[in-house]
Amino acid sequence: MERRNEQWRVELRNAMKAKERTGIARVHMPELDPSLRSTCMAEVNLGLSPEAARAEARRCLDCARPGCVDGCPVEIDIPTFIKNIERGEFAEAARTLKESSALPAVCGRVCPQEKQCEARCIHLKSGKEPVAIGHLERFVADRDTASAIRTAPANGIRVAAIGSGPAGLSFAGEMSRAGYSVTVFEALHETGGVLRYGIPVFRLPNEIVDAEIDSLKAAGVQFVTNCIVGKTVTPDELLSEGFRGVFAGSGAGLPRFMNIKGENLAGVMSSNEYLTRVNLMDAASSDADTPVVRGRNVVVVGGGNTAMDAVRTARRLGAERAMLVYRRSEDEMPARLEEIRHAKEEGVEFMTLRNPIEYRGDERGRVVAVLLQVMELGAPDASGRRQPVEVAGKTELLETDQVIVSVGVSPNPLVPQSVAGLDISPRGTIRIDESTMQTSVPTIFAGGDIVRGGATVILAMGDGRRAARAMDKRLKNEPS
Ligand code: FAD
Ligand code: SF4
Repeated sequence: MERRNEQWRVELRNAMKAKERTGIARVHMPELDPSLRSTCMAEVNLGLSPEAARAEARRCLDCARPGCVDGCPVEIDIPTFIKNIERGEFAEAARTLKESSALPAVCGRVCPQEKQCEARCIHLKSGKEPVAIGHLERFVADRDTASAIRTAPANGIRVAAIGSGPAGLSFAGEMSRAGYSVTVFEALHETGGVLRYGIPVFRLPNEIVDAEIDSLKAAGVQFVTNCIVGKTVTPDELLSEGFRGVFAGSGAGLPRFMNIKGENLAGVMSSNEYLTRVNLMDAASSDADTPVVRGRNVVVVGGGNTAMDAVRTARRLGAERAMLVYRRSEDEMPARLEEIRHAKEEGVEFMTLRNPIEYRGDERGRVVAVLLQVMELGAPDASGRRQPVEVAGKTELLETDQVIVSVGVSPNPLVPQSVAGLDISPRGTIRIDESTMQTSVPTIFAGGDIVRGGATVILAMGDGRRAARAMDKRLKNEPS
């Protein structure tokens, strides 16, 4: 990345010594009180004030070789956006962010910064807390909802995206910026993918997703909802209708189960179903046509983002006991540290080193208990995490009236199977050339969870962006 050395930058550097900057304590995100937030869907993190954001921005050393940028999957010019906050140029900071990220207000809220940019911040080397890059990203993006995406003059070439999750949105933003006419085809009646139907509003309010999508609409991107590609229309039909390239970003929305006894009992469901019904179909409201069951003793199985979202939602819907059952220890949980802390503050009970082996029902076929196998940690497995191993003969019976299974997802086969000659892995993901995101069918590119299996928002966005750049290059070199 080219490092800019404008006059203002030199002045900032001279205004405060590195030692002074390192001595400033990291700001903390103001949060809604746990006793209040565990009873409602209001956003938990409240955002930084301009004063707090500028104070945090002063901590950044504007490193010559910024490790934080290497840790960012979309290579945001982090020091430049942060130094613009320090000098109060918030719009300029937003411009820098938007050069690399189509969804900064989303990423500032849900990206695992502690494992990415912040994990590479130079402050960690001297035992200090990293600069709060995620909080600053959110601060800037929230102040910039009105700024439009700058687009190149229209080139008259039509391209399509399948799916309106972060991969499809990022692809659409990038292609629109380059002057293409982009149409996004979405199976559901709402746009946003997991950002809308998966992640609950107490972590990512709908207005934030709406604002990001509105800015794409303002840039000319068209959205066609209720269109299931593979059924309503096939990718081949899109190509023959004049779309010169198709990006598949249809995600991984097929829930996995554990195939244990009792999984078909009433009251046992996947986290996908539970969260989609609450987030997208308003099933928690009293006048819903098909209201979701509000369990009193809810068991959620899993330790990732999705499990954490489900258990915190259950607590908000009135569960007296909202329990998280996870087969490893807390240290191995894939969920973000912030989510784990928030869940505990809200009264979620963590039952680690436990694994369900059977669900038991009553005479009406409703789940009433789960049999848990007690586990211990063994040697590390291929993922580097210590493996859970059964403690022979040690089980526990736990009363429950609702079980939400959140042990992973697979791609829905519809889109991959609707394209003849597409190279698909045994896991059902689409195989691509990693440098271009191009599939074995040259007109079709793919990215996000349909390629990676369940991954993250920022990785899906990075894929969409890389695919857009490669498709742009291909279409420019191709006779029309
Ligand atoms: P998706 O977001 O799944 O979007 C795919 C879209 O394609 C959907 O809208 C779907 O309806 C549509 N579609 C599917 N099939 C078709 C079809 N045939 N025709 C037309 N449209 C179709 N990641 C993080 O980084 N941080 C988090 O905090 C986080 N929390 C999460 C919480 C939950 C509950 C879940 C489920 C995931 C979470 N993730 C998180 C993961 C992250 O959301 C995903 O990795 C990301 O959304 C993948 O983006 P995508 O665009 O590939 O797919
Ligand atoms: Fe600033 Fe930390 Fe990045 Fe250095 S590594 S530029 S201190 S955020």
